[in-house]
Amino acid sequence: MQGMRCPKCNTRELVATRVRGIEVDQCPACHGIWFDESELAALLQAEPSELKPLTRGRTDPGSDQQKGACPRDGRLLMRVHSTRNPRLVVDVCPGCRGLWLDGGELTALLQTR
Ligand SMILES: [Zn+2]
Ligand SMILES: [Zn+2]
Repeated sequence: MQGMRCPKCNTRELVATRVRGIEVDQCPACHGIWFDESELAALLQAEPSELKPLTRGRTDPGSDQQKGACPRDGRLLMRVHSTRNPRLVVDVCPGCRGLWLDGGELTALLQTR
């Protein structure tokens, strides 16, 4: 299987990280995370301590506003307001319904609970 490219850095390959038996893919450079459909919802059930390895990075307005392509199917990601935290804009694929969180955005999502 070919590695997935970071939608924001493009040149970097995402690294698979396992949390609670769910495999998510994170960029070692910008710390953004790719979630396949329903993976994020499943992970938000986890304890905050279990999610620690994923919460590196700070929100960066530059990469937040940058448009990216889906690492699975190459479709342009749509920028939509998160239903959990409307102040947060996340990137969603109109094809596979996967979701990209920029570095720091998972932390911002967790703070809303
Ligand atoms: Zn990246
Ligand atoms: Zn997709």
